[in-house]
Amino acid sequence: MGDFSLDLNEDQLQIQKWVHDFAEEVVRPAGAEWDEREETPWPIIEEAAQIGLYSWEFVANAFSDPQGLTFALACEELCWGDAGIAMSILGSTLAVSGIAGNGTPEQIAEWVPQCFGTPDKIQLGAFGVSEPDAGSDVSSLRTRAVYDEAKDEWVLNGTKTWITNGGIADVHVIVASVEPELKARGHASFVIPPGTPGLRQGQKFKKHGIRASHTAEVILEDVRVPGSCLLGGKEKLDARLAKAREGQSTRVQAAMSTFESSRPLVGAQALGIARAAYEYSLEYAKERVQFGRPIIENQGIAFKLADMKTEIDAARLLVWRACWMGANKKPFLNGEGSMSKLKAGEVAVRVTEEAIQILGGYGYVREYPVERWHRDAKIYTIFEGTSEIQRLVIARNISGMHIK
Ligand SMILES: Cc1cc2nc3c(=O)[nH]c(=O)nc-3n(C[C@H](O)[C@H](O)[C@H](O)COP(=O)(O)OP(=O)(O)OC[C@H]3O[C@@H](n4cnc5c(N)ncnc54)[C@H](O)[C@@H]3O)c2cc1C
Repeated sequence: MGDFSLDLNEDQLQIQKWVHDFAEEVVRPAGAEWDEREETPWPIIEEAAQIGLYSWEFVANAFSDPQGLTFALACEELCWGDAGIAMSILGSTLAVSGIAGNGTPEQIAEWVPQCFGTPDKIQLGAFGVSEPDAGSDVSSLRTRAVYDEAKDEWVLNGTKTWITNGGIADVHVIVASVEPELKARGHASFVIPPGTPGLRQGQKFKKHGIRASHTAEVILEDVRVPGSCLLGGKEKLDARLAKAREGQSTRVQAAMSTFESSRPLVGAQALGIARAAYEYSLEYAKERVQFGRPIIENQGIAFKLADMKTEIDAARLLVWRACWMGANKKPFLNGEGSMSKLKAGEVAVRVTEEAIQILGGYGYVREYPVERWHRDAKIYTIFEGTSEIQRLVIARNISGMHIK
């Protein structure tokens, strides 16, 4: 017997089933309601917290899987239930990635649990990089962090936009420029503790999809945080800035290291939506009768479903490969993390559109879930790096050239 296997182990299967059951019994039935309400589904997050799914312990346990698959499995199942609600449950993990990717062990121990709170007192985390004039081009951030040496405090000013849980989170992780001349190499990440004066929510956005997830501007006006809130610490930052000033290459920038580790997981979320739409339209095509026979008996419909399944499985292989590479510290030499997110996001959009086509008119109305899944899928070609930016990362990696 060879070593290569795609079989999930007992632990992985158990967690997959546990999250699937929650998605089936709690998340999916609530999807349409919270999509219409366009509000954070607090009761569902509470239920997830009560069973231990919304907790730092679960995230820590899932991330300790040596194969790197457990959290991806959870993401796929939750989004199979409903992506908007899933994003409300998973949104805090973006802040966790920011803290874990850049913070010291002490900072991780202090702040990660606060991104979740307890079942009796739910807390949220948010991760803010994007700004009105700095989306794909993260290097042009305008939010500034200035060090007040006398008080050992950092003072942050700026506006973040499109922030998941922005303004309603307890812990905000904010990426700011400490030395603008150094562009992205002059960035650093800061934890803004709960209740810090000067941080407030701006506009809350009304969205096309994932409407149960809160997305808003975050405004920072003279926000003062202790020196200990600089993730990684001042010594490390000073050393990194000195290297950058000398023109030497530095470790990946603050925001980029967060995105690298989270892209395959975002791909796994997109897969969940695609699989939901595929399964639903497969069953529908077997039952819907036109011209005296189930519509699936027409190759025009059956081949669509064959393509949908093939594309979903291909995307999952890319997602699992990237998760496995990440967990085993294999460098993404060809942009494998980006490949997985690119493929899964585009598959989710295509598969959900085909699902609408298979349901015909029923696919276009809100009584059936597929139109919502199509709206939800679209964000996966936009956030955490648009499809164009993923292609840019892959193209730069495979060519070694500075493609613009
Ligand atoms: C619902 C939602 C939730 C989000 N959550 C968060 C969050 O929690 N935290 C956070 O920091 N951000 C978040 N974002 C922001 C998201 O990551 C950005 O929207 C995304 O990076 C794109 O930036 P932009 O919207 O400014 O588009 P732009 O960067 O202005 O891009 C516009 C278009 O130009 C293309 N383009 C840009 N540059 C190039 C290039 N060099 N080559 C080819 N094409 C290019 C893009 O691909 C895109 O098609 C969220 C966004 C949304 C909509």
